[in-house]
Amino acid sequence: TKQYGKNNYTIYSEELDQETAYKLTLEQDLKSAVKNQEFTLHYQPIIDLKTGNINAMEALIRWNHPELGLIPPDQFIPISEESGQIVSIGKWVLETACAQNKKWQQEGYPPFRICVNISTIQLQHPNFVQTLKAVLEDKELESKWLELEVTESILLEDTQTLKESLINLKTLGVSMSIDDFGTGYTSLSYLRNFSFDRVKIDRSFIQDIAAGLNGKAITSTIISLANKLKMGVVAEGIEDSTQLTYLTQENCDDGQGYYFSRPLPAEMHILSKFPENII
Ligand code: C2E
Ligand code: CA
Ligand code: CA
Ligand code: CA
Repeated sequence: TKQYGKNNYTIYSEELDQETAYKLTLEQDLKSAVKNQEFTLHYQPIIDLKTGNINAMEALIRWNHPELGLIPPDQFIPISEESGQIVSIGKWVLETACAQNKKWQQEGYPPFRICVNISTIQLQHPNFVQTLKAVLEDKELESKWLELEVTESILLEDTQTLKESLINLKTLGVSMSIDDFGTGYTSLSYLRNFSFDRVKIDRSFIQDIAAGLNGKAITSTIISLANKLKMGVVAEGIEDSTQLTYLTQENCDDGQGYYFSRPLPAEMHILSKFPENII
């Protein structure tokens, strides 16, 4: 009936208003979040599937909002990208992650790379390479211990600034990986044009490994593609031994996921080799 439809519409528009209001609140509160030290980084190990060694740690941002509590990055990163706040937040992430990796090295752990997620917006900023260089110098971290994770969408941004940045990053000696690989709409041939060091197979394909043939077919195709292009390959979101066994058998280099460890605050990591019985 008309009445029903009208109510439906009212609820819908109230929900929309609420969502808009929520986003506006977050955008407003993001302005003071760096200064008020409301962000923290959690770290998740990336494991060498042959040796069980920690090859890298991925830094993942968390926002502890004073009233709303813990807000996951999927909720505020897109807002910060729209408003441009990602540039200063991203700088804080780089500084904190590089400082933490240096600290781990000074504590005597076998060195590994620190992987930092970089938004396309951030990477396209004309000062990005300069900022990154200054952070590495300030934190006294060798560039080879830093890896930047960018999503496939970067490959579609065929701009001069971006090309120059990628060349300069290569010269600087940081590694580059493509995150969420397989979910974008890029052609595989793009991979040849840029010299990326690694691809990270998206979690959704790893989750499909047990379900049937598609997950297996897609992951093994990405692994052999990476091998042929002389790129490293990392599987994200490994949650059980079935997935791990399949990936090891297919010669996937590295793995990451709750099966090994959830992302944790730096001080909660016990940085030894993962026991043989897990791998
Ligand atoms: P991502 O880069 O693909 O990161 C992996 C996400 O999967 C993380 O979610 C991680 O906690 C989660 N994860 C890891 N292992 C497992 C698993 O075994 N099972 C399941 N179900 N999930 C797993 P998180 O921390 O919520 O981050 C979400 C996304 O937010 C990231 O996806 C990344 O795109 C973005 N992000 C996080 N930190 C930053 C940052 O510092 N800067 C930027 N620009 N983006 C960030
Ligand atoms: Ca990532
Ligand atoms: Ca992912
Ligand atoms: Ca992602």
